Amino acid sequence: MEYETVIGLEVHVQLDTRSKMFCGCPADYQAAEPNTRTCPVCLGLPGALPVINRRAVEYTVMTGLALHCRIPQFTKFDRKNYPYPDLMKGYQISQYDLPLALDGHLEIDGDPNLEHGRRPIGVERVHLEEDVAKMQHFPEDAEGYSLVDVNRSGVPLMEIVSKPDLRSPEEAHQYLTSLHSMVQYLGVSTANMQDGNFRCDANVSIRPAGSDTFGTRTEVKNMNSFRSVYHALEYEVERQRHVVEDGGTVVQETRGWVEERGVTVSQRSKEYAHDYRYFPEPDLPPLNIGSEWVDRLQSALPELAPQRKARFQDEYELSDYDADQLTGSRATADYFEETVALSNTKVSRPAAAKEIANWMLGDLSYLLNQDHRDFAAASVTPGRLSELLGLIADGTLSTSLAKTVLEQMYATRAPAADIVREQGLAQISDTGAIEAAVAEAIAANPKAVADYLSGKETAARFLMGQVMRLTKGQAQPELALRLVQAGLEAQRQ
Ligand code: ADP
Ligand code: ZN
Ligand code: MG
Repeated sequence: MEYETVIGLEVHVQLDTRSKMFCGCPADYQAAEPNTRTCPVCLGLPGALPVINRRAVEYTVMTGLALHCRIPQFTKFDRKNYPYPDLMKGYQISQYDLPLALDGHLEIDGDPNLEHGRRPIGVERVHLEEDVAKMQHFPEDAEGYSLVDVNRSGVPLMEIVSKPDLRSPEEAHQYLTSLHSMVQYLGVSTANMQDGNFRCDANVSIRPAGSDTFGTRTEVKNMNSFRSVYHALEYEVERQRHVVEDGGTVVQETRGWVEERGVTVSQRSKEYAHDYRYFPEPDLPPLNIGSEWVDRLQSALPELAPQRKARFQDEYELSDYDADQLTGSRATADYFEETVALSNTKVSRPAAAKEIANWMLGDLSYLLNQDHRDFAAASVTPGRLSELLGLIADGTLSTSLAKTVLEQMYATRAPAADIVREQGLAQISDTGAIEAAVAEAIAANPKAVADYLSGKETAARFLMGQVMRLTKGQAQPELALRLVQAGLEAQRQ
């Protein structure tokens, strides 16, 4: 039987605010020594009272607006109760039935292997809550113990819940990368997955193709990269299919992804599901969100990836592919525009833009990918890259020499001009110097010369290659070819 996959994602995004969600503690917990960002509120001491972080509400509303959600006038916070040592108060302040944003969507390209195509994926809700403390467990130790770092407790956390509209791991991956890019464009989160600023739980079920009722779902947790979300979903879909094909039934449960083994394992079944006993948070006033405020946030939304892509195609005449790649992340798009602004004004803007796009998406991306870095952390800054392009434009460097120089710039952070000077890498455009190499190449390759004279013009290319080798790649290529041809023609008499 053919099955259809159904996936819904719950994404948690830490908001990049200065202070925590309900107290004045700095939210920069990651760089801090354990338990140095705490106060009675985020330690959950009796009698301490929370105060709502206005910026966190603003960031959540902005995200809701970017996702085309409805922002209700009235919203409130609720207590979600469960006992676990990472929860200092014994409950988490979250939002239950009246979230900050509802009923939106995010467009994806769609899985090319399915016939659904490009379409909006429903967003059920966006709500605001607080993060919990971080625990480290040491079960192997003789005594067995755990450590708690309260720094993360109370950091603002936004949750974005999709509708079960995704139909494959590929589509889940597309949704996730778009959402990730969106919160970075909005500037509401650093969204660093490795650091846990952007986390995703995935709900998965399968059903017979053509069916319009949903199957029983499992919830998969513990994935800490886009790649692991994709693999965990692939694995889980296959696992469910085997269960059903073997005559069993899928049970509703929470499963954890075990990266090293590439499998999901059962963590908690439905019978042990929590009853959170939600009730309205009595220590916080309900929030009345004024429509004027929402309008102001709407009109102040920054340019997002789709608009920026369209503008790049329009303003710089970039291809669809280049514009897509360059706007994939805000850091990449910013890097591109900074470099264009600094670039040589002798050529047309589209020509300069195309050259910059080629260097960014080619050699520089190759170097960055090897170190798993992005353009925000590039050792070659826009200023340095535009200096390098300047040296190509004024004839100091050929393209292939520039590639060598770029590698060294990347490794050492030195400016292009210094590398060229220190290593004598400049292009040779001096006829005399190249002619010596031409003479040497002709003398050493009588067969190529004979070939050329009998009409095989490609032999000139071969000899030009020899000249490039003799000059360590520094001969100006067109000049070298012209001199090789002249040298060969001179042999005809
Ligand atoms: P809960 O309250 O248990 O978290 P929700 O109704 O809020 O459940 O759904 C959580 C997530 O699960 C949502 O992203 C939703 O799209 C997804 N989901 C719901 N039903 C299914 C299903 N049958 N298959 C896959 N995902 C589902
Ligand atoms: Zn605090
Ligand atoms: Mg839910």
